[in-house]
Parts: sequence; C-alpha cells; structure tokens
Amino acid sequence: MVTRLVLVLGDQLSTTLSALTQADRDTDVVVMAEVKAEGTYVRHHPKKIALILAAMRKFAAQLRADGWQVAYSELDDTDNTQSIVGELLRRADQYGASQVLATEPGEWRLIEALRDAPLQVGVLQDDRFLASHATFEAWAEGRKQLRMEYFYRDMRRTTGLMMEGDKPAGDKWNFDHDNRKPAPKDVTIGGPLVFEPDAEVNAVLDLVEAEFGDHFGQLRPFSYGTTRAEALRALDHFVTHALPRFGDFQDAMLSDHRFLYHAVLSPYLNIGLLGPLEICQAVEQAWKDGHAPINAAEGFIRQIIGWREYVRGIYFLEGPDYTKRNVLEQTADLPALYWGSKTKMRCLSKAVKQTDVEAYAHHIQRLMVTGNFALLAGVDPRHVHEWYLAVYVDAFEWVEAPNTVGMSQFADGGIIASKPYVSSGAYINRMSDYCKGCHYKVAQKTGEGACPFNLLYWHFLDTHRPRFSNNARMGNMYRTWDRMDEDKRDVILREGQDFLDRMRAGEVV
Ligand SMILES: Cc1cc2nc3c(=O)[nH]c(=O)nc-3n(C[C@H](O)[C@H](O)[C@H](O)COP(=O)(O)OP(=O)(O)OC[C@H]3O[C@@H](n4cnc5c(N)ncnc54)[C@H](O)[C@@H]3O)c2cc1C
Repeated sequence: MVTRLVLVLGDQLSTTLSALTQADRDTDVVVMAEVKAEGTYVRHHPKKIALILAAMRKFAAQLRADGWQVAYSELDDTDNTQSIVGELLRRADQYGASQVLATEPGEWRLIEALRDAPLQVGVLQDDRFLASHATFEAWAEGRKQLRMEYFYRDMRRTTGLMMEGDKPAGDKWNFDHDNRKPAPKDVTIGGPLVFEPDAEVNAVLDLVEAEFGDHFGQLRPFSYGTTRAEALRALDHFVTHALPRFGDFQDAMLSDHRFLYHAVLSPYLNIGLLGPLEICQAVEQAWKDGHAPINAAEGFIRQIIGWREYVRGIYFLEGPDYTKRNVLEQTADLPALYWGSKTKMRCLSKAVKQTDVEAYAHHIQRLMVTGNFALLAGVDPRHVHEWYLAVYVDAFEWVEAPNTVGMSQFADGGIIASKPYVSSGAYINRMSDYCKGCHYKVAQKTGEGACPFNLLYWHFLDTHRPRFSNNARMGNMYRTWDRMDEDKRDVILREGQDFLDRMRAGEVV
C-alpha cells in the first residue's frame, strides 16, 4: 500500500537527493510535475524551461529504470492542476496518501507553499551543498561582517581541497592578483560542449515553444545537456580545454566569444546533475597533474566552495524578506533595453543580446555591465532581481537573489559587498572589446557622445554621498570628485540626469 509521496522538484535531479535516499522504493511514489506556475511566476527564459523539463523527463526515466514508481505530470496533461501543491494534492488523492517527503526547496516561496499545504510534509535538509544551514549559522554567529573570504578559508579546511596539511597550497589562500587580465588576443577555445537535441528534447522544445514562446529569449538553437552523463562530459570538456586559462581571463569580455574560458557548468550544478565536490575534485586533480596553473584551480574552486555556498548561506540566514530590500531607495523602472529594445550603448546591447540568445552571461557581464548600469540608473532592485531570475538558465532564487540584491545592487546595505560594484566606462573598456565601435566615446567625460557610464558613475556617487562618503574603500573616489572643478561637476550631474530623464521617457539612448 502506498502511504507516502516523495517530491522531486525540477532543480533536485540528483539520485543522492535526501528525499530519495530516505524513501522506500518499494512503497513510496515519487511525484514529479511540470507545471505552468513554475514557468510563469516570473517569465522564465524558454531555454531555461526547456532545460529543466527535458532533464526532469530523463531523470524520471532513470528513476523508473532504477525501480522507483514515478507519478509524472507532463505540462499538457489534461488533469494537470499546474501548481506543485495542486499536483501533490491530486496524487495524494489518487494514491490515498497523506504524507509527503521532500527535500527543502531553494526558494522561500516554495518552502512556504509546502508548509501551508493541507498535507503532512516532512522537509529534509538539502545535503547536496557542502555547508548546512547550521554550519553557516555557526560561522556567521557573532561576526560583525560576513566576508566571503573567511568563510571560504573554513571551507578549504573542511573539504581539504588544495590544502597542504593545515596550509593552503602555494602558501596563499587567494591568487586573484594573477587573474583579471584584459581579454586575450588569441582565444583558444570555441565555448562549452554542444549537445544536439534528441527526439525527446525536441518534443520538449516544441511544447515550450507552444506554451512559453512569448517569453523573452530565444529557444533554438538549444545545446545544453540534459542528463548527468552529458553534464559529466561538459565538466570534462571544461577541465581539459578551458580551465588552464580560466583564472587569467575570468573577468574579460569579448563580443565574439560569449563564454570565453568560463565553465558554463552552473546550469547542471544548480539542477542537480553535478555535485559541487566532484567538480572541485576534478579541478584540483588537473592542477595536481600540472594541467592547470594554481591561479586557475584556486580561483575556480573559490567560486564553488566559496561564493556559491556563501551566497546560499546568506539567502537562508537573511530570511524571506531579503528580496524586498532596497536600502538605497531606488525606484526607477527597468529600462526597456533589458528586454531587447534598441540601445546605443554597445556593451549593454551585446550583454542583453547574448542573454536573449544563450540565457547565459558570465559573472562580469552580469555584475559590471547589466548590474552596474541598473544600479547607476537608479532601478528598483526588485525589478532587477526579477529580471535576473527570469533570464538566466542557472537562476534559482537561493543563488540569484544574493548575487543580484546583495552583490550587484547593494540593496541589502552591504551584507555581501563592502562597497557598491559601480564603475565608469573605463573599467568596461579595459576588460572588453565592447567600446570599440560604440556610439558613445568611452574617453569622453561630458558633452555630446560622452559614455553614459562616465556621467552616471559620478551622478550615483553624488546622490548616495551620505551613505558612502565614510566608506573607507570609497574615500579615493569622493576625493577625486571633490577635487574636480565645480562647474565640471555641475555639468556631469546635469548631463547624467538629462540622460536618465530621456531614457525614462522612452528615448533610445
Ligand atoms: C547579478 C548576478 C546574478 C547572478 N545570478 C546567478 C544565478 O542566478 N545563478 C548562478 O548560479 N549564479 C549566478 N551568478 C553568479 C555567476 O555569474 C554565475 O554563477 C556564473 O556566471 C555561471 O557561469 P559559469 O558556470 O560559466 O561560471 P564560472 O565563471 O565558470 O564559475 C564556476 C562556477 O562557480 C560558481 N559561481 C561563480 N560565481 C558565483 C557566485 N557569485 N555565486 C554563486 N556561484 C558562483 C557557479 O556555480 C559557476 O558554475 C550571478 C552573478 C551576478 C553578478
């Protein structure tokens, strides 16, 4: 007799999932459901929806082959209630079950929905992460500042990754000073591994086109892998071809090389097809074998056991209201250019176009182009958060929100970032080829054709002076501003405001 349902969500596609390891495959029924509510609470990029649905279908087939009974709802099933809780209730009715076993969702919205469901739901910890909530809380306890770097060192000690006894390999925790090189002239890689859609993936693509084709973003060509075996091949491809230069060019941006030396593994990692430790061990091994230099291996491992685990810790520590924070009281709408409307700013046009086509942009494009501009333009962080959550293939709230609300928009008041990530055009010019051929002149500070980032950078600092002028890391910026001729400052502020007014009025800028 069936007494219990086991919920497996679309980003929980791991056979090691706690709900599965604690369930009984002889008596329990696994519930997996494709539902419209999950595709539309923000209007997710069609590629992201397709990746999740295709990977869910293949994971369900694997579970069945492993002896599980799976109640799988396809999106266009006629009796599909189109919500997770609705499907749980329907299956509970169908199987006469009242208990549900679940692994904690990565989003407060779903945690609350399960808590409020009229069923007995047992929620287990998601132990696919390296730091549990208790570990993170213990680390955070009593600290004035929750700086990632110190959390990361603890994670290195706990995992033993790149450690020599109790010392970090190479005698340094962090090799970032060797990274951040401008874009290379000789790009030696063509991007991540491409997977041709098979018949099953093509069926999902047709379904997604029919149901979500009006969302922002191009569905085809679709080249993500949808099984663990494919994800492992993508990992191997990254370690073999891209890792050696990952560190050096981590921050560089090139119009014709959208992925450069980045891993593009976050989609697989975040839906559970890969685990964080196995990725880091593969990278550590490449370094031990002399295939990758220490700055690449350390830099990469820091992103996973440092940043990724840290932002998740912050999301759960800070609670459900985190996504509503707005300490800078920014209120503007998201400019239409974020949805693909024409803009003369080449960097934004390139970053948004790439997002439209790939559902992917790398960290610096997200932080220093689209994020930087939204912050400088006074956009309400809630709108920025919803945009990032919708448009990126790897966006799940536990990881997207702290990166957007905290790191990129400083809306949490500095829990994650010790200063706002804002820059003038000079940074973008140094790290990319975007400025060449742009309508605006990056070297020009004011007047017709001046780069808008140059104007808005000072406009932002001036607007938020009361909050930031005492920030030790920003003193130099304010001293530079104060040394500027007063007339010049007036012109910058006036032209910056004029630019914002014109953009908000719908002019193509
Ligand atoms: C505004 C903003 C929003 C972001 N939203 C997301 C998101 O929704 N989902 C997401 O996974 N990452 C997000 N990031 C972090 C980062 O941009 C992506 O993890 C990265 O671009 C994924 O591509 P990749 O696999 O090629 O990464 P690589 O550059 O090759 O890095 C390797 C891995 O490290 C991890 N990683 C790197 N940086 C971070 C970080 N800051 N936080 C968490 N993990 C990190 C990822 O798992 C990534 O796969 C965001 C960053 C910013 C600035």
